[in-house]
Amino acid sequence: MIYYLGLGANLGGRELTLRRAIERVKKIPAVELKRVSSFYESEPWGVVNQPNYINAAIKIATELDPLDLLDELQRIESELGRVRREHWGARTIDIDILYGAEVSHVRLTVPHKFLFERDFALIPLKEICPTLDCNLRGDKVVRVPGSPIDFKLKLVACVDKGFGLGKGGKLLFRIPADLKNFRRLTLGHAIIYGRKTLETFPNQKPLDSRRNIILSRTLDGLSGAQVVGSVEELFNVLNAAEDNFVIGGEQVFNELIAYAAELFLTVVDAKAQADTFFPNVDDFTLTDKKTFDGFEFRRYTR
Ligand code: ATP
Ligand code: CA
Ligand code: CA
Repeated sequence: MIYYLGLGANLGGRELTLRRAIERVKKIPAVELKRVSSFYESEPWGVVNQPNYINAAIKIATELDPLDLLDELQRIESELGRVRREHWGARTIDIDILYGAEVSHVRLTVPHKFLFERDFALIPLKEICPTLDCNLRGDKVVRVPGSPIDFKLKLVACVDKGFGLGKGGKLLFRIPADLKNFRRLTLGHAIIYGRKTLETFPNQKPLDSRRNIILSRTLDGLSGAQVVGSVEELFNVLNAAEDNFVIGGEQVFNELIAYAAELFLTVVDAKAQADTFFPNVDDFTLTDKKTFDGFEFRRYTR
């Protein structure tokens, strides 16, 4: 089942809290984070005399019963310091189920009962759900920096016809034209990867002429690279003005694809016995394709 959630914060480090909340939603078992909107600032709705809000929307796929999903979201709200005082009052974080399969229950109504009266919810939602049919009221809702999508992550991989990535800790293919393309794309930019990918590099050393960022919970540090222990930490060190390429492996792609703007895939016209795979690309559109003898370069965007 697909659900769209709306997140809002108007106390504390609002952008940081939203990023944190999104990461926690991503970690709910049986929830797959598919897509994240920009962040938007707006004036309070319902109760005035409170700070401005930052709002965002996210798309998830889940097998959870919607009431269990609501329980998980309320747990995340309390973990992030939500205290329920007055209705519609100031809060560190609010996570609502905005839209998706209909629910009518004392604890949960989907679509959210005020969704179509709230531009601050509709504008981020429409960004990640363009087919949504709605009329805006013209309230002031301003896009602001701070969303992980502002880093415009680009995922780069070489896969077989079944989107297989590797086998036994090694890449499936070493195609000179692909390696050349990879170098051309990434040179001078940031590359983000996991420890297992580091182990596939020559002498297990960071790659030259690029800013190397390793996402690893176990690695302490490494000369020539910056090690970050979590996605939240990664977002604290990334620069939105830089080109940020995510280059693998499977786990790192899974962690970051929801935040990605573009995918560069070299698809080899062969079927290998892979044991790691590139994540599902259904949420992207194939926008460019160049076919060569035995492989093709594909570019996907949102
Ligand atoms: P609003 O519902 O107007 O956005 P709010 O988010 O401030 O106000 P909360 O105090 O967070 O309200 O939630 C009150 C109750 O609303 C929750 O305990 C929950 O049971 C119920 N609820 C009903 N429908 C939804 C929904 N679609 N998403 C989240 N909570 C919902
Ligand atoms: Ca709400
Ligand atoms: Ca709520």
